[in-house]
Amino acid sequence: MGDNRAGNGGSKQSLTGRTLYVPQMSHGGAVAFAASFRSVGINAWPCPDSDDRTLELGGKYTSGEECLPARVTLGDFLKVVEQPDFVPHKTAFFMPTADGPCRFGQYATYVRKVLRDIGLEDVIVFSPTSQDGYQGVAEQVNELMRTTFRGLTCADILRKMLHKTRPYEVNKGDTDKAHAQALAEVEKALEEPGVPTEKRMKRLISVMTEARDNFRKVPAEYSRKRPLIGVVGEIFCRLTPFTNDYLIRKIEHFGGECSLAHIGEWIWYTNCEQQKHLCYAGKRFSVEMLGVKIKNWVQQRDEHRLCEPFKEDFRGYEEPHIHQILEYSDCYLPHNGVLGEMTLSVGKAISHYYMGCDGVVDISPFTCMNGIVTEAIYPTLSADHESIPVRNFFFDGTQYDAERDLGIFMELVRTYQSRKKIKRVYPFYFPSES
Ligand code: SF4
Repeated sequence: MGDNRAGNGGSKQSLTGRTLYVPQMSHGGAVAFAASFRSVGINAWPCPDSDDRTLELGGKYTSGEECLPARVTLGDFLKVVEQPDFVPHKTAFFMPTADGPCRFGQYATYVRKVLRDIGLEDVIVFSPTSQDGYQGVAEQVNELMRTTFRGLTCADILRKMLHKTRPYEVNKGDTDKAHAQALAEVEKALEEPGVPTEKRMKRLISVMTEARDNFRKVPAEYSRKRPLIGVVGEIFCRLTPFTNDYLIRKIEHFGGECSLAHIGEWIWYTNCEQQKHLCYAGKRFSVEMLGVKIKNWVQQRDEHRLCEPFKEDFRGYEEPHIHQILEYSDCYLPHNGVLGEMTLSVGKAISHYYMGCDGVVDISPFTCMNGIVTEAIYPTLSADHESIPVRNFFFDGTQYDAERDLGIFMELVRTYQSRKKIKRVYPFYFPSES
């Protein structure tokens, strides 16, 4: 691994005897991620839940020009520092890094700087990159990556079940309870060390099948009248309810149901990008390319096996293939020239149109380039697709009265719902149209 220590170089040894805190880029994702690390002997846990103190602490060490995810992740790390049992030389923060124009690539460096400024050089910022082959966990990197992928996939599936069940529940809170229980079981299946790969997979499939049955048992009144809203946007902000002011719950409160772009989409996209870059480097037929293709194949197979029990429940909610998303976005933001989430958001918005959604919401942090670009594209995209309502929502961590804008948006959604040409496909438990 490169520099994974606050201030100077570090190694796998550095994590021994430390607790590794993982930012909550979705609660389920962080729980699954941390449990996967524990399965290889690294004592990892999600960061504490974000709250006002998060913004207060994050705001103290940022200038206001950073994007909201930077402020929130930093604030949550600093909340760990405030815990009574915090010991610097026994603590590590997980903050991966990446190349490219996005400010995310600067987060790890920035967190290290803040820690150094406040005299906490002993805290490690654990920052693996795909470029160095994740050498920090070298001995078990393959096992860890496979368990992590499975964990994130389970978290994606459970979140999807949550969002498609909760709006119809009869007793408030039942679906959240079913989701929390399922996540706890997945966590147990992931964290156990030394489990052979096939055995762990079978255990996860069994846990997920039971979770599906529990979601199905939630008393619910399904109705085809409730509009379905596709939710796209910046990955941290859209997946972290605290940073988007709980927008999905608010849409549900306004009578909608949401289909949220999942973490897996980003994994498929990065796999695609890896292959593209190898081709550019003249390595179309190379050992590296073979490795990437095998990894992709293994992940697809794992995803397929974990999704299989949910086939009936996800009827009409199927995720498009990543190539389909990129093809949709091609005439607005060609993926060969435009990188990152803006391409995915535009492609996914179109995919939501073909899925029969009644509107699309794009969630972005204020000043994020992705949201700025997509906001400029959406009027044309909407005009090209029967004028489906598409609306950007920006967040900067301050109080924002989204209710008024949501009210107007949902009016447009209902009008579109009554005139749209592409009809939705429903799972078996929706009553037929009267
Ligand atoms: S995508 Fe935007 S909000 Fe997210 S890390 Fe990059 S610059 Fe910040």
